[in-house]
Amino acid sequence: MLPILDQSVEQLQTWMLEHDQRPYRAAQIRKWLFAKRANSWEQMTDLPLGLREQLASEFTIGSTEIAVHRKDDDGTEKLLLTLADGTRSAPAALQVECVLLRDDKGHCSICISTQVGCAMKCAFCATGLGGLTRNLTTGEILEQMLQLQRLLKPEERLSHIVCMGMGEPLANLDRLMPALAAASAKDGLGIGVRKITISTVGLPVGIRRLAEQNCQYHLAVSLHAPNDELRTQLMPTNRNIGIEAVLAAADAYFEKTGRRVTYEYILLAGVNDGPIEANQLVSLLRGRPSLINLIPYNPVRGLKFRTPHPSAVARFVEILEQGGLNVAIRHRKGARIDAACGQLRRAAVSPREANAVPIVEMTKDE
Ligand code: SAH
Repeated sequence: MLPILDQSVEQLQTWMLEHDQRPYRAAQIRKWLFAKRANSWEQMTDLPLGLREQLASEFTIGSTEIAVHRKDDDGTEKLLLTLADGTRSAPAALQVECVLLRDDKGHCSICISTQVGCAMKCAFCATGLGGLTRNLTTGEILEQMLQLQRLLKPEERLSHIVCMGMGEPLANLDRLMPALAAASAKDGLGIGVRKITISTVGLPVGIRRLAEQNCQYHLAVSLHAPNDELRTQLMPTNRNIGIEAVLAAADAYFEKTGRRVTYEYILLAGVNDGPIEANQLVSLLRGRPSLINLIPYNPVRGLKFRTPHPSAVARFVEILEQGGLNVAIRHRKGARIDAACGQLRRAAVSPREANAVPIVEMTKDE
């Protein structure tokens, strides 16, 4: 059995022709999956019964199961999905998280995972603690979007997608790109490319590949430190890359696409949140058309980092703004539902390891 979500329109059309069906059936199926929120072949009543049966014998619609569904009073909902190869005895190794966030303007944004776990090992990240299990398939990436879309009220529409869940998107670009193509296609989810954000630890090769394709997605680079010594301590991938190469690739992305790059900067008390770092950041980014997105640290049980006092955050912002940088502070949502990346899965693995009051993070600047 093949997941239907792994099939491109062209593949579906070919399948139809090979089975003596009209190619337009492919478009009908996509409409059911993406627009009409169907999750079974039986629902697709405008397909002939024989075709539905044939499809059901060859393709699965959904391959994930909802293991946990949490809702917060602020409208945030989070799913922990078990993948098809997750066994009952050890499902946590094959689970991913995805989040639906609602803002007061009626926008519904979703945050999706691109890998099971992550190999990047950033020192402050809950996902990195467990290492990488495997890449998600195109179908699994899309299925998160569809599972979250099914949580919407009939009058609600998805407006933004951010790839800020578990994993490093640019380490799984071959599977991510077709998923985002379906998300942005008119006969897919129809979400504008400019409303889709790819957040990366900063892999120059991947950023340049993305730039070459000129697909206009919004790029967010996790910078987190203004000098190589500190960045390498926090983000081991920096050791063989270096900030200069990351910024050069991001500059190339801007030059090619005309899209302003966002730099994410997690604020860790006493580590990277002082005036020295703020001034270094100004020197680094001054003159680059960019937005700095400050993220107060979300405590992860077992890690020694602390969230800065609001006064330290305010001082940091002031220095950046005086230096002429554009600054946003990330909104926090989903506080009561383990909504931050990697934390719900950790809670499922071992409730004592997880945080009592974690917080989800979402960019609201675009
Ligand atoms: N691998 C990608 C995307 C996933 S992480 C990346 O590195 O960008 C999404 C964002 O959440 C990144 O900016 C990441 O550094 C940040 N993040 C991870 N753990 C966090 C924590 N405990 N508190 C706040 N932000 C965190």
